Amino acid sequence: MKKITVRTKAAKKLRAGYPLLVAEDLNSPFLEDDFAQFFDEKGQALGTGYLSKQNKGVGWLLDSSSVKIDHHFYVEKFVNARALRANFYQDELTNAFRLFNGEGDGLGGLTIDFYNGFAVFSWYNQFIYSQKKAIVKAFQVVFPDIKGAYEKLRFSEAALESQHIFGQEAAEPLLVMENGVTYATYLNEGLMTGIFLDQKNVRGALAGGLSTGKTLLNMFSYTGAFSVAAAFGGSSQTTSVDLAKRSLDKTREQFLVNGIEPESQKIYVMDVFGYFNYAKKKELTYDMIVLDPPSFARNGKKTFSVAKNYGDLVKEAVEILENNGTLIASTNAANVSDKKFRQMIEEALKNKGVKFTVFQEEKLPADFHIADSFPEGNYLKVLFIKIKK
Ligand code: SAH
Repeated sequence: MKKITVRTKAAKKLRAGYPLLVAEDLNSPFLEDDFAQFFDEKGQALGTGYLSKQNKGVGWLLDSSSVKIDHHFYVEKFVNARALRANFYQDELTNAFRLFNGEGDGLGGLTIDFYNGFAVFSWYNQFIYSQKKAIVKAFQVVFPDIKGAYEKLRFSEAALESQHIFGQEAAEPLLVMENGVTYATYLNEGLMTGIFLDQKNVRGALAGGLSTGKTLLNMFSYTGAFSVAAAFGGSSQTTSVDLAKRSLDKTREQFLVNGIEPESQKIYVMDVFGYFNYAKKKELTYDMIVLDPPSFARNGKKTFSVAKNYGDLVKEAVEILENNGTLIASTNAANVSDKKFRQMIEEALKNKGVKFTVFQEEKLPADFHIADSFPEGNYLKVLFIKIKK
């Protein structure tokens, strides 16, 4: 195991249980991915982990002792993760949720999701992927009931995005249930499956009746999951807008698997800003509008980023929202804090001269278990806002 010295400031962070290492924490760049024992500049041991570049950071602290990261270590993490989610296994209305949430369950760089009997592994760096054999073996000891598994390779050096790894192959689509609503998923189509499991609570609120009797506009709708939840919960009509051509068939399918006639709903393959203009021209208004954009997006020459442009979305939405309507403002952008997100929205609403009340707020659901020492792991931000014009 490599011995790695970290700078004084970083040592303080690691001692407090903060699990992520960034390049500035190290005195010199590391040359190869490996397990590591971390020390402060006085030679005091800080714990065990590994170094490997990923989207965020260059490595993870896994344990504050000098424990060996082996089969027993992985088994223990999986046993704890399973116990934490006991009530999710007993929920008869939900069979899709996160089984294992990376650093929140003590192993940064790996997440595992449960889809109606199947598991989907996401590997976030090359080194954790090199430990796949040992990790999957330990997983199968703790989860012998999993029928089959797939993996997503979410690091830049990866040669492929998605493949089957063991057991049975899942049906296509694989139907999963969440709060009584059915969703069609595809476990082996690129990095995405058709549903973002982190939005469970928002879909749950819609399916549970928040939009009963109301019209709902779902912007950046992807496979229309929010629209389907709203229609299931009694929304009078949903409108889904997404730029991607695939979203049309995928959204129709989500309605069909719930016994909802897709023709009774509206689905547009369109740029959201184009749709705002269209709606204004046609004088269309909505009781509820969901805004859930990707952190960054490009459409031709135009770029959109949550950090810079979320306020523009809010302003546009206000124009076509009914008086006393509800805006559901959501983002998963990790580079935008809860505080900044709220500020951007409040500024846009004040600029529009409307009165508003935030009446509900959602963060990640409980199956996305977060380490107390790493609150930024809770990247999801959703505000439900009532707007008076
Ligand atoms: N809200 C969805 C997830 C959105 S994923 C859900 O909860 O299921 C982001 C989506 O935004 C993608 O499907 C992408 O095609 C779409 N998108 C990106 N830029 C867009 C734009 N300018 N107009 C409309 N859709 C866009």
